[in-house]
Amino acid sequence: MSGGTSWQLVLHIFMLPDFRLRQREYLLEISRAMSARLDLSALLELTLRSAVELLAGQAGLITLRRDDGTFSPHASIGLPLQAVPLFEPLWRDLESEENRGAISDMSLRLALASKAAGVPLRQVVALPLDIGGEAIGHIFIFRTRGAAFGSNDRQVLSAFADQAAIAVQNARLYQQVSAERERLDAIIENSGDGVMMINPYRIIQTWNKALVNMTGIPAAEAIGRPCYAVLNLRTPQGVSVCHTACPLVHPPTDGRLYAEGIHHRADGLAITLADNYSPQFNEEGKIVQIIANVRDVTRLREADELKQTLLSVISHELKTPVSIIKGYADTLAREDADWDKETLAEGLAAIEEEADRLDQLINNLLEASRLQAGGVKLRLGMVDLSDMARNIVDKLQTTTDKHTFALEFPEDFPAIQGDYERLQEVLTNLIGNAIKYSPGGGLIRVGGIVGENNTLRLYVSDKGIGISPGDQERIFERFHRVDNRLTRQTPGTGLGLFLVKAVVEAHNGRVWVESTPGQGSVFWVELPLG
Ligand code: ADP
Repeated sequence: MSGGTSWQLVLHIFMLPDFRLRQREYLLEISRAMSARLDLSALLELTLRSAVELLAGQAGLITLRRDDGTFSPHASIGLPLQAVPLFEPLWRDLESEENRGAISDMSLRLALASKAAGVPLRQVVALPLDIGGEAIGHIFIFRTRGAAFGSNDRQVLSAFADQAAIAVQNARLYQQVSAERERLDAIIENSGDGVMMINPYRIIQTWNKALVNMTGIPAAEAIGRPCYAVLNLRTPQGVSVCHTACPLVHPPTDGRLYAEGIHHRADGLAITLADNYSPQFNEEGKIVQIIANVRDVTRLREADELKQTLLSVISHELKTPVSIIKGYADTLAREDADWDKETLAEGLAAIEEEADRLDQLINNLLEASRLQAGGVKLRLGMVDLSDMARNIVDKLQTTTDKHTFALEFPEDFPAIQGDYERLQEVLTNLIGNAIKYSPGGGLIRVGGIVGENNTLRLYVSDKGIGISPGDQERIFERFHRVDNRLTRQTPGTGLGLFLVKAVVEAHNGRVWVESTPGQGSVFWVELPLG
């Protein structure tokens, strides 16, 4: 404190004509300190200092009740710290029925304690810190000399005792509330589900750890922003659910506050989120905040979709060959008909062909679920891909008279380490698709080149319908078929390219497509050499 300020303070105190004014000044200072949230010890010390000064004392002490009902010192001024506990006889049974508030032999107890502590205190005044008729502590003011405290002093002190009681009560409530809050925060923060709290303006107030992991958005980026900006959920068609169908803005008739939609993460991943909202109301029935429980239902929705697709694959793809087989078998078995050898052979060939198709389909389905369960296990050996391609083309050539094939492998095309059967599946699928998806016929080129970085590349090109850029990634997903007329008319399950990709990746390779809709496609497979 500068010299000027301390002079001002002294002048200020001396200039106050009225003692009451000074008291008011002190009490005001304590209230101000209280609202500035000083810690409890600092507040109690400030109260003691003011009271000691006003009562012309030299020392003061505040005790507080502990959980077991006994009292212990909490703040003191004008007393050496180690001496304070020696004054314990003063507050020992202050609260017993017969002593309530004042002990008859207080002076004697003070004299003895002062002697033991080596601190010469002569006079004492004590008042309870009262909350709702219950003493939560006591305030003691001491004089080392001069007259005994009178009723006037007690009256002055009572205002300070009240202030101290309020400060203690506040601090305890605050402690309780913050302990409760910390407990709640910990529950919310560590909940396995995403939890977001928003205010009535849909501004995010809380964003827990599970949400950070789910969405990749840190809490600092989400808190303070509107939820519809942070989690702009969309339908699979791209319509914003948050803008057109937020249940908080357009409450649904069934009262269920639920929203579901796709959230596009910054890392490119799309996840489906399901939000359940529970509004909290105040006494007037106004919404004060809304708790949103957020779950990642991506897998669930994928499984639903898969189930649907599987059902339709089974109903369409499996039913067709079965009914053809049954039709031929019924016809051939008719007792009233006498089939010639040729018709019989034709019928049996059709049955065999359809049974093969069924077998292939079931194998694909089994293979796909095996892949799903545990990856691809390879049986490795040396594989000559140009030889393999020639064999496949020879076989498939017989199934079409619209297409011509060109085999484009260099003489010294190297053999690779690989799983013969699986790689045969890959080429058969790619060449089979080239035929299926170029119904107008045309040239199908199958070739190989030695690529960069010790790799080789295979390609299968056709002059077919092509694939739009939006579908070029998706066709490698399980059950994904491009929705067009030709695909609808062409038998298939959408599993072929999924299997191709899995097998190629198991060989540490990659597969991709280059295509111009209406002009044709080139499927590329890159495999490591040794
Ligand atoms: P499937 O042929 O049984 O439907 P695939 O997984 O082999 O399944 O192929 C997925 C989809 O990719 C096909 O349904 C088709 O729409 C598209 N597709 C595959 N190959 C070609 C191609 N060469 N040209 C055009 N579209 C293709």
